[in-house]
Amino acid sequence: MTDQPAPVRLRSTLAGVPAYVPGKPPAPVEGVTSYKISSNENPFPPLPSVTQAISDAAQQVNRYPDMGVVALTEALAVRLGVPVEQLATGTGSVAVLAQLVAIACDPDDEVVYAWRSFEAYPIVVALSGARSVQVPLDADARHDLDAMAEAITDRTRLVVVCTPNNPTGPAVTEQELRAFLDKVPSDLLVVVDEAYVEFTTEESVSDALAIAQEYPNVVVLRTFSKAYGLAGLRIGYAVAHAAVATALRKAATPFGVTDLAQHAAIASLAAEDELLARVEELVGERERVVAGLREQGWQVPQAQGNFCWLPLGDDAVPFAQAAQERGLMVRPFAGDGVRCTIGETEANDRLLDVAAEWLRTQG
Ligand code: PMP
Repeated sequence: MTDQPAPVRLRSTLAGVPAYVPGKPPAPVEGVTSYKISSNENPFPPLPSVTQAISDAAQQVNRYPDMGVVALTEALAVRLGVPVEQLATGTGSVAVLAQLVAIACDPDDEVVYAWRSFEAYPIVVALSGARSVQVPLDADARHDLDAMAEAITDRTRLVVVCTPNNPTGPAVTEQELRAFLDKVPSDLLVVVDEAYVEFTTEESVSDALAIAQEYPNVVVLRTFSKAYGLAGLRIGYAVAHAAVATALRKAATPFGVTDLAQHAAIASLAAEDELLARVEELVGERERVVAGLREQGWQVPQAQGNFCWLPLGDDAVPFAQAAQERGLMVRPFAGDGVRCTIGETEANDRLLDVAAEWLRTQG
C-alpha cells in the first residue's frame, strides 16, 4: 500500500473509505505451532469429495463458468425449500452485500446498521457513495433494534442486521426481529446477514428464512465460507423476493462465481451431514472456551457464531500482541475488544492459557 497521491483523478470520496484489514497469518514462534484464529475461518480442511469436485472442475478452467449458477441454485433451492427465483449468488456474501447496496442506494442515501459489526459494512457503503448510519450495540454487545428503528429516515434505503453479530457474538431473537420488521416501512430493504447461522444453538434465535417468506422486504444473506469451509473459493448467496433476486443478479460481476466454487458448493451440500457434524464439534469447543473464559472472570457476551469476544477496551491491541508472542493470531479491534475464532482444539486451549495469563499478569 502506498500513501502517494494518484497521478490521475479518482473519486474524492475514496479518501474517506477505510481499508479492509485481513486477519494476520500465523507468525512463527520458536518451539510452538502457531495458529490463526483471526478470520473466523473453519479449521477443518476440505472433505475429499469436495477436493475431488474442485479438481474435476479445474479441468475446464479454460472455459467461463455457468453464469446462471444453475446447478448450484437448484441444489440450494431444494436444500432451503425456496423457489430458485428467490436465490442470487455472488463472489462471497460480501459481494452480494455490495450488490444489495448497489440495487438499493443512490448517492447520499442512508444504510443503517449496528456498530460494532462486520467491518466490511462501512467500506461497501462508502464505496457506493451512500452514507453509513451506525447504531451502537447495547451494553450486552447486542443489536439495539429499537434504536435502529428510530435511526431510519426517509433517506434510509437499506438496514443490515448481522446475526450472530460479527465480532461480538450475540444473535437476534425471533421476537426481536419480528417486532423490528413490524415497525419499519414495508418497502425498506432489510438484510439479515446470517453468515454464521449454522453455528447458532439458542432456541430463541430468529428464523430469517421463514420470516423472509412473510416479509417481502427481507433478504437473507448466507455464505459457504464459514460452516461449509469454502472461504478461499468465495461463494455466498441471498434469499430474497424474486424481484429483488433478479435485481441482484443484474448487479453481479459477470462470471464472478467460478466453476470451482460452484462444484465445491454442490459437493458440500451433498456432504452436509459430515460438514454439520464438524460444526457441532466447533460449537462444543465454543461452549468449552466461553465457559472457561467466564470461569476465569472474563465478561464474554453470548457467542452464537464460531468466535467469541473479549471486551478489552484499550487493552485489545496489547492482548493481541501477547497472544501473538504465544503463537496465536487473534483479531484486535483497537480500543474495543478482541475477537477469537474457535479453531483447532490446541488453538482453543492456547487461547484459554493466554487469557488466564493475561489476567494473572495484567488484570
Ligand atoms: N458477513 C459477515 C457477518 C461476516 O463476518 C463475513 C466474513 N467475515 C461475511 C459476511 C463475508 O463472508 P464471505 O464474503 O466470505 O461470504
